[in-house]
Amino acid sequence: MQQYKHLFFDLDRTLYDFDANNRDTLSRLFREFNFSDNGKVDFDTFMDVYRPINLALWERYKRKEISKETLNLRRFADTLKACGLNEEVAGDFAGKYLEISPSQNRLLPGTVTTLQYLSESYDLHIITNGFEEVQYPKMARCGLMPFFRHIITSEKAGAQKPAPEIFEYALNLTGASPENSLMIGDDPVADIEGAFRQGMDQVWLSANDEVCTITPTYRIAALKELMSIL
Ligand SMILES: [Mg+2]
Repeated sequence: MQQYKHLFFDLDRTLYDFDANNRDTLSRLFREFNFSDNGKVDFDTFMDVYRPINLALWERYKRKEISKETLNLRRFADTLKACGLNEEVAGDFAGKYLEISPSQNRLLPGTVTTLQYLSESYDLHIITNGFEEVQYPKMARCGLMPFFRHIITSEKAGAQKPAPEIFEYALNLTGASPENSLMIGDDPVADIEGAFRQGMDQVWLSANDEVCTITPTYRIAALKELMSIL
């Protein structure tokens, strides 16, 4: 559509199949640390324990109460402890997690076709809440780098979506204005509300019954639907 010039994409769960890749990484580590052999917990239980611990720590990291190093260590230390596993290996586990994560390369369906189509007519950028050392290699491994002009991480911007600062940082860096920008993402708060409050139009990628407090400009169930909107 003519009014848009800059398309800002979220990365995890919008282009990158974060859930599948993350599960692969953790199940590999679970085996490598021989947690599957000691009979205490199975991998599914480990994941059920890990998810809420990880989410709660991310919330604290977003509020700047803890550092990223603490976040990365504590999510595994607390999970191992809660599962009755050897928490002394948490540091090693956390280090390997950061090392292995970027090597996982599954994208969500239709990602490359859609980006190829859009890159012919628009400037594409990434705005992601994530660590620099994870997001860059991850994108490189998936072959995503050539599509994007600017990659904005929350770490570099000094603020996490939905904070206005990260959107302002992105607009300044790219020379975009809210009027000629479109934000595409899966998170109703971080991506959609965040962009809305900045005066940007939004595309919400949501395949289930989730709710959003605002009515997004567009709602799609699969990324390739962008090709009929744009
Ligand atoms: Mg996301």
